[in-house]
Amino acid sequence: MYNYDPKSLKAEEFINDAEIRETLAYAEANKNNVKLIDAILEKARPVKQGSGCKCAGLTHREASVLLACEIPEKIEKMYEIAEEIKQAFYGNRIVLFAPLYLSNYCVNGCLYCPYHLKNKHIARRKLTQDEVRAEVIALQDMGHKRLAIEAGEDPVNNPIEYILECIDTIYGVHHKNGDIRRVNVNIAATTVENYRRLKEAGIGTYILFQETYHKESYLRLHPTGPKHDYAYHTEAMDRAMEGGIDDVGLGVLFGLELYKYEFAGLIMHAEHLEAVHGVGPHTISVPRVKKADDIDPDMFDNGIDDETFTKIAACIRLAVPYTGMIVSTRESEEVRRRLLQVGISQVSGASRTSVGGYTEEERPHDTEQFDVSDQRTLDEVVRWLMETGHIPSFCTACYRAGRTGDRFMSLCKSGQILNCCHPNALMTLAEYLVDYASDETKEIGWKMIDDELMRIPKESVRAVASENIEAIKSSNRRDFRF
Ligand code: SAM
Repeated sequence: MYNYDPKSLKAEEFINDAEIRETLAYAEANKNNVKLIDAILEKARPVKQGSGCKCAGLTHREASVLLACEIPEKIEKMYEIAEEIKQAFYGNRIVLFAPLYLSNYCVNGCLYCPYHLKNKHIARRKLTQDEVRAEVIALQDMGHKRLAIEAGEDPVNNPIEYILECIDTIYGVHHKNGDIRRVNVNIAATTVENYRRLKEAGIGTYILFQETYHKESYLRLHPTGPKHDYAYHTEAMDRAMEGGIDDVGLGVLFGLELYKYEFAGLIMHAEHLEAVHGVGPHTISVPRVKKADDIDPDMFDNGIDDETFTKIAACIRLAVPYTGMIVSTRESEEVRRRLLQVGISQVSGASRTSVGGYTEEERPHDTEQFDVSDQRTLDEVVRWLMETGHIPSFCTACYRAGRTGDRFMSLCKSGQILNCCHPNALMTLAEYLVDYASDETKEIGWKMIDDELMRIPKESVRAVASENIEAIKSSNRRDFRF
């Protein structure tokens, strides 16, 4: 029997099954308690403070009450406040990135993933450094500046040295005006020493999805391989932070277990990081299980509909207001549009989930990890974002300027975003328009830049941003940032 302790470094104590069950019982008992629900909603609302805004966030118990509540007007309120929080801390910017699959060799037995060891008919592939270069050039030619590298777990085929070499290769490719300026890493749980090496290689966020917080299900869904070790996987972010990585990204693979359980676990994980390391997760991703080679999502009983999914995203937004939220191309255009309204701050675009997929003319399926729902080009996604009132941002300034961990969070809280992130977004959008956009996208984009420049409060910042944008238009000078 484990006791709940958010400060403990033991998985079963900070993600405590008894505490989650009590939370769910409390949420169920209070799901119609309008007085309590109103008080929780009020607590979640952003309040003005000096030039910025402050948000109290919610505890896992409070957020779970909201998630359990089925009263339509209260759900509408949640969506409204989620949007308010997003506007207060992230504005209307949406950061874009793409995944880059390096290798699908894997020794694990994850039941939901087609890369599992027993899948003998999927083609196995690992990129050579020349192939990494070619993929990066293809991504740069689309306009991408930020990647998330993905690999199966295989100490022989994909050792840490291979991952580090790939990161080095990626940062080393400068094709035309292209550059990858931030490499986020989504690889299996590893040692403090390896996290230290990743940090030294200059990675952005270390991302690791918990898949499920429910230990028993976790053990069943990961029957073989190193990933079977629930504690080692769940405690990975603590090791990453010990290794010096202070931007970490959490996520649950929705569909595997009961979503209310997962949600409470996810918020408890965020609370744990804050309690132990003084900084919560940099991002939270919300993937749902998708169809894939030899994987049928109906094998799992806990699939969630789009409305519930939207509500989960909104409740995350309310609970951890300073954490970025990511939705991938696993979701359709329609679902992504809805989620953008309740707090998502990053989306992937033009993703290919196969190893070597970007250099192929046609979308290949033979080494693919899962079906991509949103198959639009990056130009289409960029245009769509602007048409729906968002500024597509290719900004990577924060971590390059050392604004990671709590330094990023304090920028977020200080209200300086309009003088910093906002102009950075506009300058990177200008680069995109000049170097990669279609005429139609350019037209909408330049108009948006003109309008949005006027929203920069500090005159001096506005002047510098305008000057830099002119330089981008008239020369090959790039990579301006505040
Ligand atoms: N091997 C690493 C690990 O174990 O964390 C890297 C992650 S894997 C390339 C990226 C993520 O894809 C996994 O963490 C999992 O949540 C997700 N994934 C796997 N199979 C999926 C499926 N069928 N549908 C949607 N997402 C899936």
